[in-house]
Amino acid sequence: MINVRLGNGFDVHAFTEGNELILCGVKIPFSKKLSGHSDADVGLHAITDAIFGALAAGVIGTHFPPNDSKWENAKSSIFLKKSLKILKEKNGEINNLDITVICEEPKISKYTKEIQKNISKLLNIKEEKISLKATTTEGLGFTGRKEGIAVMSNILVNIKS
Ligand code: ZN
Repeated sequence: MINVRLGNGFDVHAFTEGNELILCGVKIPFSKKLSGHSDADVGLHAITDAIFGALAAGVIGTHFPPNDSKWENAKSSIFLKKSLKILKEKNGEINNLDITVICEEPKISKYTKEIQKNISKLLNIKEEKISLKATTTEGLGFTGRKEGIAVMSNILVNIKS
């Protein structure tokens, strides 16, 4: 029997001084960077929390407490790998993933293909299972004021029993 489970993840990081940011493991040259305890990869955080969500296995902070200095500047792929490990232990596999990146800048659309490819590599699933799109909030709110990036991620996983 296959048990289909839905998960969603949402994350926000603010911009700070810098010259590039990391989105879903891809370096994007920009006049700012994302601030955060780890490498602040807002994309991988949303995906990881979606996987944890589908498994009802908490959030990133449950497994990697932000007050633990061990995770300072940590690569977010470590968090993702932990969620994939639990997915595997539960005999699950990813059906598909739909991700929305919300920001006014940088312009994400020209990196979409590269990001999709990298997510496919990190998750070890086909690119056709991954949808990544970028949108703005029409100048409204914190993303409209170019203060940071928000990412929403939805996932379906199939658990075989
Ligand atoms: Zn985050």
